[in-house]
Amino acid sequence: MTQPLQFFQYENGILSSENVSLATIAQKIGTPVYIYSAEGFLTPFREFSEGLSEFNHLICFALKSNSNLSILRLLAQEGAGMDLVSGGELYRAEKALVSAEKIVFSGVGKTAEEMQQGLNYHGTGIYSFNVESIPELKLLNEVALNMNRKAPVALRFNPDVDAKTHPYISTGLKKNKFGISKSEVLEVIRSLDQLKGIHLKGLSIHIGSQLLSLAPLDDAFGRLEELLCALDQKLKSPLEFIDLGGGIGITYRDEKTPPIQKYCKLIKKHFGKRLKAPSQLKILIEPGRTLSGNAGVLVSKIIYRKQRRSKDFLVIDAAMNDLIRPALYESYHEIVPIHEKHLLPKVKTNIVGPVCESSDCFASDRPFPAHADQGELVAILSAGAYGFSMSSTYNSRPRPAEVLIQKGRFQVIRSRETWEDLIRGED
Ligand SMILES: *Cc1c(COP(=O)(O)O)cnc(C)c1O
Repeated sequence: MTQPLQFFQYENGILSSENVSLATIAQKIGTPVYIYSAEGFLTPFREFSEGLSEFNHLICFALKSNSNLSILRLLAQEGAGMDLVSGGELYRAEKALVSAEKIVFSGVGKTAEEMQQGLNYHGTGIYSFNVESIPELKLLNEVALNMNRKAPVALRFNPDVDAKTHPYISTGLKKNKFGISKSEVLEVIRSLDQLKGIHLKGLSIHIGSQLLSLAPLDDAFGRLEELLCALDQKLKSPLEFIDLGGGIGITYRDEKTPPIQKYCKLIKKHFGKRLKAPSQLKILIEPGRTLSGNAGVLVSKIIYRKQRRSKDFLVIDAAMNDLIRPALYESYHEIVPIHEKHLLPKVKTNIVGPVCESSDCFASDRPFPAHADQGELVAILSAGAYGFSMSSTYNSRPRPAEVLIQKGRFQVIRSRETWEDLIRGED
């Protein structure tokens, strides 16, 4: 799995990607700025593609992890589909010209309007609504019937396994709000005849995010397999696909993460027979962080070194509104100086943002170069997933710019927000 500095390296002493210096970008575009490497997205994408090449498969990027239009286009051009969770994300996918037959719509709270939007996507409608409850299925049935359509559906099965990840990003337990139980799936199957607006095409699962072991997935895949067997006799027409969700972890610090090849082998172990002809079951996966996490960094400038008796604080110009993961999940991000010469010696440092919250802290008691001072640049690594997409304008801080490095060049893919952007719609 990807590493924090896999797609960014020191070249001539300056942190760079494909010979493009991050210091140059910071100078031209200002800070804070998100900088992405196109190869960072494409490398793991291709690895999944290869691992699943013997099967009829579709890799749907979970666009909530990074929803910039240029990133969506980049992945769509490689053949990616999209997994989305809101009408706004549907709008983004449509703008990025992602084909309708490559879109799955997940989420526990789809509204009637979002269902209509999905059914109207590019005229033909999306590939599948991954339905998470029986009331949702009933509403979707009504919406589709009113449009004289049949809605393509996968039922999101909650396999009740513990993903052993942060409780906020664990989704596959019975106590979580996601998906429906085995008995509910069977109940739905029995009532399919009454749901004339529903075309049941598949089953989906997604047990959580940042999984550091394949064991919970092994368990979940096994339960899905059992459910598939139970359905074999009960279904009038066979399922078209199974969707195995996302969630494989990446390295933020020194975690050992499951290799993509092993993950693909696990899929083969459980579903290999079903995926091969004649049943031709199609396999979908929904990686988000795995594709985007280590493809991006957040570059920021040191505003002050504030010396305290016990330790030093570095106040930087990025804050929790730009990257909320440390404040929200106490998650670890590696932070490095952009100029390699500043690497040593190190002292224990707290690296914090300017926002008026004590949780606005990117690192506590972190050994950090003692000479890094006012005006110098740092990169917060592994910021490509759930970074910009979770950003806000808290403290009336305009959102940062986003830049993409591709084929040895860089390009602004979202301009920095302005103060006018901050008050739009208020007057
Ligand atoms: C968030 C989400 C994903 C992606 O999760 P990652 O951990 O980023 O891979 C996939 N599927 C669904 C249904 C999700 O909600």
